[in-house]
Amino acid sequence: MMITLDFAAQKSDSSTRRALSDLSLSVAKCKKIVVVTGAGISCSSGIPDFRSSDGLYSLVKEKYPDVVLKGRDLFDASLFRDPTSTAVFHTFIAQLKQSIDAAEPGPTHHFIQLLDTKKKLLRSYTQNIDGFEARTGLLGSASHDAQTNGKGKSKIRTKEVRNVQLHGDIHRVRCRSCSAEYPCTQHHLDSFLEGLAPECPECLERAEARIARSARTIKVGSLRPAIVLYDEPHPLGDDIATIQSADLSRKPDMLIIMGTSLKVHGLKKLVKEFAKTVHSLAPSSPAKAKKWVGKVVFVNRTPPGAEWAGIIDYHVAGETDAWVEKVTEDWKKMRPVDWEVQQTLVATDGDVSMNGTFKVVASTKSKTKDTKDTKKKPRKDEENVPPLPTPMVLGTPNVILPLSKIASTPPLSPSKRRQTNSHYTVESSPSKRRTFSPMKGLEDSVRGLLFAPQAAGHDGDDPFDIADLSMSSPPKAKPPPKTRRTARVAPS
Ligand SMILES: [Zn+2]
Repeated sequence: MMITLDFAAQKSDSSTRRALSDLSLSVAKCKKIVVVTGAGISCSSGIPDFRSSDGLYSLVKEKYPDVVLKGRDLFDASLFRDPTSTAVFHTFIAQLKQSIDAAEPGPTHHFIQLLDTKKKLLRSYTQNIDGFEARTGLLGSASHDAQTNGKGKSKIRTKEVRNVQLHGDIHRVRCRSCSAEYPCTQHHLDSFLEGLAPECPECLERAEARIARSARTIKVGSLRPAIVLYDEPHPLGDDIATIQSADLSRKPDMLIIMGTSLKVHGLKKLVKEFAKTVHSLAPSSPAKAKKWVGKVVFVNRTPPGAEWAGIIDYHVAGETDAWVEKVTEDWKKMRPVDWEVQQTLVATDGDVSMNGTFKVVASTKSKTKDTKDTKKKPRKDEENVPPLPTPMVLGTPNVILPLSKIASTPPLSPSKRRQTNSHYTVESSPSKRRTFSPMKGLEDSVRGLLFAPQAAGHDGDDPFDIADLSMSSPPKAKPPPKTRRTARVAPS
């Protein structure tokens, strides 16, 4: 039986209040939470549901007054058959990307990241293409850093991916011919706004090489936004299926579905499978079942359809932002211990030589300082911690690469970027790996940094600054005066 809780009614209704508190307690107690999200979680950021947005359609209408396209047509794979609908699609997506670039992740995105920081997030799956999760620090499946090589057909790093982007990513472009992928730059955006498609550099390079050796020329592919259209296979479909089966076998204890109307076939299937696994963990003895906290929760303004009875345990009718704020508040009261161990490591930009015990590379962009440092021979006990898109977890043996490698590497051509850009995870040679124990051997000045006052948040981290080194203009050109990394220190 599905229980509906009207979020707004909690003020007047004590049973609703109690039930909502129970849900908060479940979040606080569960350890392997799967989160599934849709457009509703990005509404507060001002991003409209792009499949049903009137605002964006009217913008496109201004540019193409004679074109009649229904919403679905604008996102159907067949649009590429017609040059006009292709042009409209490019313009529409470019305008949508501009509004996304100007917006910020909302409370629900930060909540998902919080679950990850608190080691509760098994995985996040989203239908959204806005990439806000990445901006809170969760590595997305479409990200360049998630892939083992730059091509569309590549494998993805299952373990590192925290957010599975079921419908692709608006911040990336893909070649329609060779599937090479790139970050969407201002140059691409300018072309798309005009309804045009930029040429694929990889195809171009290959074509030029053939001309040089007088071979038959090949067609140069054009770039398109790397989002998944209706009736189009996901380029990473196999990888996503692998991630999903891995997550199912890890037995998630809670499923939170937020801001989606649950109407897309693939998503329905995914939700049903996760719900089944969560329910399969319920203890059979009634006494134990009463204490069992595992739940399938659906948070959305509108109720789910009748088919979800028996699959969803609770429908919280309301805004996802309001719900996650209540959960966080309750969680802090219910389990204060979860919030005491949080410490913050603060490094000022360029301040990379903290008494030589370990180093924090604040930003790959702070080149001048870094280059100077590369001349210094690394000491045996030194750690050069590369920037991570996710909060740095101290105490986890991190694979580190010498600072010289980061600092002295010039921006690479996109086709070559993969090899050098990913080495700080698993590919560096064993001799270059070092284990880092957080407290051992830290000098007082460094400890002071570890126990600096709790930062207000790490919202400022822009993973695109890190992931897309060659972007001519990052979504938000922010000066990086200070980089904050959240560090988890195990209670002793
Ligand atoms: Zn190509």
